[in-house]
Amino acid sequence: MTENISSRVAIVRTLLNQYSYEYYVLDQPTVPDSEFDQLFLELQQLEEQHPELVDSASPTQRVGSEPSAAFDSIKHRVPMLSLGNAFSQEELQQFYDRIQSGLGVEPNERTHFFCEPKFDGLALSLVYKNGVFSYAATRGDGRSGEDVSTNARTIRSIPLRLRGEALPTWLEVRGEVVMPKAGFDALNARMREQDQKEFANPRNAAAGSMRQLDPKITAKRPLAFYAYAVGPCEGVDIPKTQASVLSWLHDMGFPVSIERRCVEGLQACLDYHTSMLEKREALPYDIDGVVYKVNDHDAQERLGYVSRSPRFAIAYKFPAQEKLTTVAGIECQVGRTGAITPVSRLEPVFVGGVTVTNATLHNFEELARKDVRVGDTVVVRRAGDVIPEVVSVVLDKRPEKAKPYPMPEVCPVCGSDVEKKEGQVVLRCLGGVTCRAQLAESIKHYASRQAMNIDGLGDKLIDVLVERSWIKDVSDLYRLTQNQLASLPRMGELSSANIVKAIEVSSHTSLARFLFGLGIPEVGEATARSLAKHCQDLHVIRESSIDDLQLIPDVGPVVAEHIHQFFSHDKHQALIQHLLDAGVNWPKEEVADESAQPLLGKQFVLTGTLTSMTRQDAKAKLQALGAKVTGSVSAKTTALICGENPGSKHKKALDLAVEIMDEEAFEAWVNSL
Ligand code: NAD
Repeated sequence: MTENISSRVAIVRTLLNQYSYEYYVLDQPTVPDSEFDQLFLELQQLEEQHPELVDSASPTQRVGSEPSAAFDSIKHRVPMLSLGNAFSQEELQQFYDRIQSGLGVEPNERTHFFCEPKFDGLALSLVYKNGVFSYAATRGDGRSGEDVSTNARTIRSIPLRLRGEALPTWLEVRGEVVMPKAGFDALNARMREQDQKEFANPRNAAAGSMRQLDPKITAKRPLAFYAYAVGPCEGVDIPKTQASVLSWLHDMGFPVSIERRCVEGLQACLDYHTSMLEKREALPYDIDGVVYKVNDHDAQERLGYVSRSPRFAIAYKFPAQEKLTTVAGIECQVGRTGAITPVSRLEPVFVGGVTVTNATLHNFEELARKDVRVGDTVVVRRAGDVIPEVVSVVLDKRPEKAKPYPMPEVCPVCGSDVEKKEGQVVLRCLGGVTCRAQLAESIKHYASRQAMNIDGLGDKLIDVLVERSWIKDVSDLYRLTQNQLASLPRMGELSSANIVKAIEVSSHTSLARFLFGLGIPEVGEATARSLAKHCQDLHVIRESSIDDLQLIPDVGPVVAEHIHQFFSHDKHQALIQHLLDAGVNWPKEEVADESAQPLLGKQFVLTGTLTSMTRQDAKAKLQALGAKVTGSVSAKTTALICGENPGSKHKKALDLAVEIMDEEAFEAWVNSL
């Protein structure tokens, strides 16, 4: 038994050492942090249960990894430690109890904690002599780090000369170098263009940029620094609390987190965690949790340190946004326009707060680049509302027989030829509506809420109707009978009657909805509305030249070309005729009355969940008043309508000083117009 345990301990230590080397030295992790953390926890528990196996070289006793020989080494005057972790409320409670009892505090007295985001970057030590920047070092193995002074000098938020009068003769400032999310996206786009390997995440990009041998490269990287502590200091007294240290650092010219707070007791610490978790997506940089430090420095000293971390502080980590799972299969989905998208079917994995079973692989170029194969162990990422995606493959875990997934030579649904246009990444089925998948998707689009709004005609039913060849183009919808529908499994008399009725009701529509429902490439709801408003008649649109079309607001040369091409196809003309013959109709568009459109020329953005109406309804209201509703906040935005749990648009609006309206204010205002 003990033999088994000691061999497991050895295996876990080897893995952790390998992962640490890849993460700290190569800046190229091969597994997500959650995998590392889980193994680390396992090792900690095994060593706790079997103290005879503890070894001073164990990863649980050490910080980081040896500094790289590529840089000169700098010995820290005082070791730079790591932080203990909590992954649950219970673990935070245990930490809190340890602090209270360690300080001998009565249960009714609540310890003060200084709270901050846990920046997901690279720890950096900066030394100033008489207020002038002297050198910078990475944390390294905690005792010695790498001399990255020339690289640190290129980061604009690191002051080279401190502000103020009574400056220390010698001061070490500690903090984190991060790469803001926007800069990271731009950097990876550049790396992609230059066919260079992309960075896995902003942390690795920050670490990789900081540890460049050529400072000119570091200078081009969008790095930022946030100070969070001081090390040794000579010549002046350090303030007595963590909160006042941060204010002092701020006064001397260091960026510090604006999210920092001083709170009392456990509940306030938990509340801080919740509020930061909500803000996480909107912050301009990645954070992977929050850090609590006992605020009072004397109390910190009394609590002291364990081998790799202080006892007075802890990081309460957020749920992982990246996890490992295996690929059970790869399938192709064919969309309305024939785009063939590879999708991975995954062993269910809980990541970013939900269970994920599918993740997009975007396109075949991306699939080939990542070389995802059935049976592979992959890193899956889900952050915020973003669709889950496969980030990378753990090559060490690839089964021997796993084969590359080939790009299909024909459409996997209908067997038609496929095409990949020069310079484009999308592979398309050329089957048009003869392809079952394209047909089903185009009918789903036609029936959708924003188009003909056919109640009760769900995706599954449409798949069945297409499968049975009852529908060969959308006009066949109008020939469906109640008896026919009632003969389908699990379809009652009443629901089939309701569907036939809904199809009939929806045939009385508007020109804009009809145009949108046709699925003309590049014609979204707004363009369809614009076309309807300006041409007022389908006949006019059909006959318009590309030049005429470009006179319409919202219609540029590409869109005009698509519209023109669509109407010049005989099969589309025939389809439209079939639909008109089947009874689809709309009232003549009124000439827009500008006085009924008080928001003409104004732009709005919606974010978060609205409670009294859907976002669609809010959008429709604004558009009816002449406003444009766009997807992202810019300097042109008139106002942001903000529901509950807003996303990053809220932060952007604050940054750009765009007016923000909550739901209540929006309703009152819009109703008053
Ligand atoms: P850590 O990142 O969990 O915590 C300590 C570090 O937090 C400090 O050194 C400091 O750099 C940073 N920090 C950020 N904000 C801070 C703040 N406000 N106050 C104080 N410190 C702050 O610990 P670590 O020892 O740097 O790294 C361990 C973690 O790294 C693991 O939990 C794992 O997630 C990750 N890791 C991953 C791999 C991998 O292969 N994926 C390998 C090794 C380590």
